[in-house]
Amino acid sequence: MGDLLQQASLASEFPSLAQRVNGEPLAYLDNAATTHMPQAVLDAMREFETTSRANIHRGVHTLSQRATDAFERARGDLKRFVGAGPGHELVFTSGTTDALNLVANGLSDAGAGRPYLQPGDEIIVSGLEHHANLVPWQQAARRTGATVRILRPDAQGRLHADDLAPLLTPRTMVFAVTAGANATGERPPYEELLALAAEAGALTVLDAAQAMSHDTPQLLALACDFMAFSGHKMYGPMGTGVLAGRRKALERLTPLRFGGDMVIWVSEQEASFAELPARLEGGTPNVAGAVGLAAAAAFIEATGRGAIDAHVRSLRAHAVAGLSALDGVTVLAPHAEAAALVSFVAAGAHPHDIGTLLDERGIAVRTGHHCAQPLLDHLGLGPTTRASFALYNTHDEVERLVAAVARALEVLR
Ligand code: PMP
Repeated sequence: MGDLLQQASLASEFPSLAQRVNGEPLAYLDNAATTHMPQAVLDAMREFETTSRANIHRGVHTLSQRATDAFERARGDLKRFVGAGPGHELVFTSGTTDALNLVANGLSDAGAGRPYLQPGDEIIVSGLEHHANLVPWQQAARRTGATVRILRPDAQGRLHADDLAPLLTPRTMVFAVTAGANATGERPPYEELLALAAEAGALTVLDAAQAMSHDTPQLLALACDFMAFSGHKMYGPMGTGVLAGRRKALERLTPLRFGGDMVIWVSEQEASFAELPARLEGGTPNVAGAVGLAAAAAFIEATGRGAIDAHVRSLRAHAVAGLSALDGVTVLAPHAEAAALVSFVAAGAHPHDIGTLLDERGIAVRTGHHCAQPLLDHLGLGPTTRASFALYNTHDEVERLVAAVARALEVLR
């Protein structure tokens, strides 16, 4: 196909994909869990480790200055990548989970005075969320006496702005939603939902973990106070991530980690804290990881966000058509054209068994509840099988997937 992606050459930029699994060429279709890293990212991290490794911010020596420059350059590059303006700031975290905990904890912790969340306040969380954007809010509610309310999807797993409006009250302090549901692929109208919630006076939280690699949300275009994402789902290193958002909103957060690098002065009994972003980055960060994450963003830009998005959508459409045609297979959210993944259930076959048989043919998919149990309960479903696509996947791999699922169903039934 005349797409971006002259796949053979692109895939060759990802050394970890060039292997056989169980005697077959690897078809890695578990990208919603973790993507692979291109040589450019591996090179950027290696270059940092071999030329500039030192601790940041506290050294006068050359390597420390190089490391500090590399870290702050990565921050600047990532701010541009997410469309940040002068009123935004970006904090490095270890991932989406870490970033969302930083927000939920920071709005509910009494450590630095009266917390933002108070008894009787309401936190609205969408019913599409990964546990990482639900459980921290449950904990925040427990800590403060606030309540979690759910913006429920319809029976097809869609969210509607009309359903949000009646939930918003003067007590709504937080609204949290995903930019892409990892269990179904649903792409909610988050722009509209965030705007509605912000208009009602709530702080808004966007979990962009599934969107960053192909449908990158742009902060300046959104009524978004906090946006979280992970490096390892966008061709970057594991254990890296970001909390980006409005500086004024980030300033409300009580730090999660107190200690070195986030203080101005410390006495025996008290301390005063640094400005953002250092204030929320206590301790030594993963500097090589930040460098690798910025290199991953540069790789996405160089490949072309639009081209990547078109490619993963077309792989998904191909997989939906092929899988839906199989006897007894139901694809979740078949309408979700913007998704980079397909999640399905098959009558008479357990996802775990399907996944195991696919692995025997070198095809990596994910099976289970995808850390989204409330959503699957709401849809009346149990575990699913999920194939998720990245820029290096091919239509041939989709054909292999569909054929292997068909064979697995024959064996299992
Ligand atoms: N949110 C969504 C939508 C996700 O898909 C994931 C990862 N599956 C997470 C949050 C958590 O990301 P991490 O494990 O990198 O913290």
